[in-house]
Amino acid sequence: MKFRVLPGSFSRTLGLLLLLVLAGCGRAPEHPNVVIVTFDTTRADHLGTYGFGLAHTPTIDHLAADGVRFDNAISAAPITAVSHATIMTGLLPPAHGVRDNGTFALGDAAETLAERFKAAGYETRAYVSAIVLSRRYKLDQGFDVYDDDLWGEDEPKLFMIRERPAEETIQHVLDWYGQRAKQTQKKPFFLWVHLFDPHEPHHPPAWAKAISPSSYDASIAYADRELGRLVDALRASGELDRTVFVFTADHGESLGEHGEKTHAIFVYRATTHVPLIIRYPPEYPRGKAYPGPVRNVDIAPTLLDLAHLPGAEQTQGVDLTPLARGDRPVADLPQYSESKLAELDFGMAPLFAVRKDGYTFIRAPKPELYDLKSDPNELHNLYGVPAYQARSDALDVELEKLLQDSAKHAIAAQNSPMSAETMQALQSLGYLQGAQDRASAAGMDPKDGISIYNKLETARHFAQHKKWASAEKELKELLKQMPQHTSARSVLALVEFKRGNLEEAKKQYLQLLARDPKQFRLYGMLGQIALMQGNYDEAEHDNQEALKIAPQFVEAMGQLGLVAALRGDESAAQSWYERALKIDPGFPTLHRRLGDLYYERGQYDLALKEYLEANKGQPKDMRSLLQAGASARRAGQMEQAEQLLRKAMALHPKSWIPRYNLACLQAKQGQAQAAFATLGESIDHGMVYANLLVEDTDWDGLRASPEFKQLLQRVRKIDAAGSPKAGDEDGDIPDAD
Ligand SMILES: [Zn+2]
Repeated sequence: MKFRVLPGSFSRTLGLLLLLVLAGCGRAPEHPNVVIVTFDTTRADHLGTYGFGLAHTPTIDHLAADGVRFDNAISAAPITAVSHATIMTGLLPPAHGVRDNGTFALGDAAETLAERFKAAGYETRAYVSAIVLSRRYKLDQGFDVYDDDLWGEDEPKLFMIRERPAEETIQHVLDWYGQRAKQTQKKPFFLWVHLFDPHEPHHPPAWAKAISPSSYDASIAYADRELGRLVDALRASGELDRTVFVFTADHGESLGEHGEKTHAIFVYRATTHVPLIIRYPPEYPRGKAYPGPVRNVDIAPTLLDLAHLPGAEQTQGVDLTPLARGDRPVADLPQYSESKLAELDFGMAPLFAVRKDGYTFIRAPKPELYDLKSDPNELHNLYGVPAYQARSDALDVELEKLLQDSAKHAIAAQNSPMSAETMQALQSLGYLQGAQDRASAAGMDPKDGISIYNKLETARHFAQHKKWASAEKELKELLKQMPQHTSARSVLALVEFKRGNLEEAKKQYLQLLARDPKQFRLYGMLGQIALMQGNYDEAEHDNQEALKIAPQFVEAMGQLGLVAALRGDESAAQSWYERALKIDPGFPTLHRRLGDLYYERGQYDLALKEYLEANKGQPKDMRSLLQAGASARRAGQMEQAEQLLRKAMALHPKSWIPRYNLACLQAKQGQAQAAFATLGESIDHGMVYANLLVEDTDWDGLRASPEFKQLLQRVRKIDAAGSPKAGDEDGDIPDAD
């Protein structure tokens, strides 16, 4: 191309600018910053740069335009924790040992990217957005800061995974990045950001819905816009071009292909073909597409080599840079994928896939072979066609080689306990089931089992909408067909529990336990039922049993503390709570209960501290705020007490409870007029309990006044008329957590 000659000084200025830009780009830093962004559940073919015309993904598209887009990247597993463990270790799942969400934690022996970067003097930070990546699962190894703070979010719906919207995760990242800008001596950083929004359930903002063909695509558009804020911040600081920026997804989404609605069972390209973009101007060409097969196991060695760090040779991947630059010809790297979910959770057969030479081979009871050139969606099974037998056999050998190589690299995963909430979410998502109950599905091909999985999903949706009877009907039908089906029985037990049929729930849990006595979560549920029935001995026994199997099971410790507290053994209760908080320091419920203990003892300063800690984790929780207010008041901190109660009022504007507490505070301080006014407001909001007003000693100083008598009269009238207890819904204080 010929350049037009520009006149005079302008051309000189431009020339100088170009020179400066080139100088800036040309030299690759010895230890560049590294950013890995993983979108959950994001299909490559639903992004603009990968050819989806209806996408609104300008941020990702620009990253691709400035870097190298890998068009044939395959994830090692369609399951969040499994895939991320591969990205972070450069090992395949049979080697790193994390084979499913929720039940596995990465072993200490793993050498993660974060550990490598930290050892090299990097600042290492992770920001994740779903509880399946919480630090319990040990992907936090090597990170200075692992921000998995999801407690501040709204309570998830039944069976839903606790998550944090992209906006908040990105804000946390930007808050840190803003702080970092003020440092004079900056270390290079290794940053991992995980955004969960494309995972169902989708709740994209209206603007994204309006421009997207589906709520799935709208959620991707939303996450893309939030990602844009991070890219802009890096660009504004001048660091973007000196940063290795990797964008990928942990897996895709089936969207009904192969009869699968979401992901995790099958290993077809619908859920394993992921986007992979690397942007690094000093070493990577701009706007190039690399067509050859690559894997997410290659990300770790590529980054280690780009940052001139050791360890790449200990991974199972290869350095992608020479391929991306065209220094080496396109290589036919074998692409491994697995899903053991159907096996671990349903007792069916596991699935193992290898893609090579343009073919997909899936090892299953009914094996599969697909010609990717003519059949990229993997619809026409060629296995068993005589002309393809040799091809199938060769790929099976290839798969075996990958498994053997994994055995050589294998480290042991840890058995990981999890929160009751996570278990509840996972078990019914089909993410988690008993290990021994295989009788009904032993060796079944997941292709044949998918209808069962879908039926379970239907039941789950009914349960989410509290259509208990419909959920029960689906589940009982399923159990009639397959009496040994643990997932169905677990969901049935939970449905009975949620609708208050505790005895029926207990019956189901005991049946599950009889078949799989190692399931500590079942003991946890039985303990909770016993506690709700006031049977403390049984609750204690069940939770102790759970701890015998899973010694780190925080929820069991919390329940044992509660049992001790209910029995009046405060010191035992305190030591249970403290033990649990050592394992999970942010657990709000435990802080609140510890606060209750101090409060009972009259140690109001200590109580206040715990309640505030609990509230930090769950800012919308009214109990902790009210109790913090009460503690502050009794500790003599009247101003703080009022502040806390007003905060509760602002968060729960329809509830009479914070208003009533504020009225009491004002009464106690002798602010008669303010107290009456606030009490009046509280009555307007549904404070209709005359007895409370009669017995509450806070009002003793004002009881004789005519205003008080008038207000009491008003409450008595409403109370007697049996008015609906307005405001209770918002201000309801449940007993069990
Ligand atoms: Zn995922």
